[in-house]
Parts: sequence; structure tokens; C-alpha cells
Amino acid sequence: MAMITSARPGEAGAWRSALLTRNKHAQGHTVVAMPEIHAARRAGAREKVAAHGADAALITSPANVRYLTGLVSSNAALLLPADGPEVLATDSRYAAAAERDCPDVELVVERFIELALATLAAARGLRTVAFEAQEMTVERHQALADTGGPDLIPLGRAIEELRMVKDEAEISLLALACAITSEACSDALASVRPGITEREFAVLLERSMIDRGAEALAFDTIVASGPNGAIPHHSPGSRPFATGDLITIDCGARYGGYHADMTRTVALGAPAGWQRDIYALVAAAQQAGIKAARPGADVGIVDAAARDLIADAGHDEHFQHALGHGVGLEVHEAPIIGYGRAGTLGDRIPVTVEPGIYLPGEGGVRIEDTLVVRAGARAAGSADLLTTTTRELLVL
Ligand code: ZN
Ligand code: ZN
Repeated sequence: MAMITSARPGEAGAWRSALLTRNKHAQGHTVVAMPEIHAARRAGAREKVAAHGADAALITSPANVRYLTGLVSSNAALLLPADGPEVLATDSRYAAAAERDCPDVELVVERFIELALATLAAARGLRTVAFEAQEMTVERHQALADTGGPDLIPLGRAIEELRMVKDEAEISLLALACAITSEACSDALASVRPGITEREFAVLLERSMIDRGAEALAFDTIVASGPNGAIPHHSPGSRPFATGDLITIDCGARYGGYHADMTRTVALGAPAGWQRDIYALVAAAQQAGIKAARPGADVGIVDAAARDLIADAGHDEHFQHALGHGVGLEVHEAPIIGYGRAGTLGDRIPVTVEPGIYLPGEGGVRIEDTLVVRAGARAAGSADLLTTTTRELLVL
């Protein structure tokens, strides 16, 4: 295991010009031909609705509405008939954005979007409407049922299944989110020193992601130092870093709606034997997981490729979360790569691979990358890794 004694220093000018190039590049994907891309996605979704035996689907998950229309809104829904024109509903705050982003779909501007679409569905003879039970609240479902309109049946995660396989425009946006994340993390690591608190470091890293062009954070940054490293989703607090700590940093930038997800664990001062041992084990498990993440691979087998290494070393009970998950318009999405999970990886599916070992009261290690599972030739052991901060154990 190589040791590197300091992180790469920041070069503000270089980052800025890289960011400008990046923004131009991304715009090429996000602006050109997006209505056509969304129309093609809706055509795929309509087939799912027909196969489900419903006359229409009522899409209410914000990520799914965005995926199918391009509209980013906290109050929008899409009526998607198996056969016939779609209707997008949103309120006046988002009407202009809907006309701009989704010019080819009929728009209803209304405060109570779900009731409006249910009434419209009934008026258009759509008798069975599939709804997104994973997102619909009991209260809202009751309100829809009370209209006496269409019969409501659960759609399942049909749109999430479509979202699992990304097109190249989506992968480009995700790659940009990951590049921002990797650069910001590499740079922020230069600030790790005894005395700085978890919270201070988290803010510094978050600021660095925003400065590099992140539109937002993909999720609340995790910074877990010393014994806190045993808590996989520790919330950064007032504990100051101390010599002898392992520090786990889990962070991600959001760009164009796509979520990066990366974890690195670094050592502050020369690591103890047990710290080196669990780092080496997690690193080996992660490489095994990455290698197994191929098109056609069963997600349970991919999980086992990494988990078995950790279990064989006696740490079975110290690694209890899934090995990874899909990333895209949501930070956790299909497929889940976990023990007992069903599913098969395929071409153009971005996932994370993130084994960890957590020793209660002592500390922990997690190493996580976002990568794209790709068909075709791939050199043994390599993958389309989008997050690139060094995976060697950094000793700071
Ligand atoms: Zn993460
Ligand atoms: Zn993750």
C-alpha cells in the first residue's frame, strides 16, 4: 500500500477554466434535443403502462416527472395514458418552466394537480389508473379515491426500472458531478489537520464543491473521525480531528440533477496496524466488487464478491450495509447491490461500490466509488470509474 503524505494543492485558475469547458459541454447535452429525449422516454413508459394492464399512469414522483418531462418541480404530476396524449399538471409557480422544458405536452395549471388529473382521466374515459404507491401518501390516495373517479391500482417501480439504464447525456452529467466531487475532495484533504472539527471540514468540502460548479450537494456530507468512523452515516459534529484518527469522508456534488457519491478514508498521522489491516481489506473487497460489476452479473453475486472477502477475514458482522446502489436523478436508486437482492446489471447502469468495516468504539473504513457498468471489452480489473480521488491510504 503506497503512502502519500499530502493531498494535491488547489489550482483555482485551472479549476475555473475546466469548469467553463465543463459547463459548455454539459449544455450541449442538456439543451439540445431534450424534448425528443423526454418524448422517447415517455414512449417507453407508455409501453410499461400498457403491459401493466392500466389505461393510464399517474406519475407523481418528482424524479420520475423530471425524467419523463424535464420539468423540475415540487408540485407536478404527469397523466400518462397507455394510448393517447399525456397531460402535465403543475401550479402557477412552475407554469413557465413547464412550457419551456416540455413544450410538446398538454399543460394543466392547477393548485391541486392530482385531483385535477384524476378528474381529467375520468372525463377521458381512462377507467384504471396506476399510481406510484412508493411515493403516494395514504392521505393523498384517500383524496383521489374520494373523487369516485378512476380505479386506482399500484404501478410498482416501472419508471424507476426505466431510469436504471442511462443514456450518454445522463452519464455525461453524472461524470461532471463526479469530477467536481473528486476535485473538491482531493483539494479539501490538504486542510485535514489536528484540531479542525468534523463540521468545519464538512463545510470546507461543501464550499469547495459549490465553488467548482455543483448546483447543490447530492446529500448531507458525512465526516466521521476516530471512533465516530464506526457509525456508517455519522453526522459531522464538534469532534476535532486528532493524530491517530482514521477519518471517513462521504460526499457528493449534484450537477444537472445527477448525484455523485464517493467515500474516502484517510489517516491522520501514521496508522496503527489494525487501521492498515482493515483499510487493506476494504480496498481489496472494493476492487473485487468493482471487478464483478459487469453486464449480466447478478447483484447478489457482485455483493458477495466483496462481502465474502470481509467475512472470511472475520469481519462479517462489521459490514452490514449493502455493497452499493444505483445513482442518477436520486442518490439512492435502482439497482441495489446487496445480499439477498434480486436483479441483474446491464450496460450503462451507474452504480456505487462501497464496502466498509465498522468496529464499534474504535473506528471504521469505507471506500466508495461511482462507476458505470458497460458492455464491451474492458481490461481486467478496470472499470468506468467516474470518481477519481486516490484510493491509496492517504496519510496526512
Ligand atoms: Zn456515499
Ligand atoms: Zn453510496
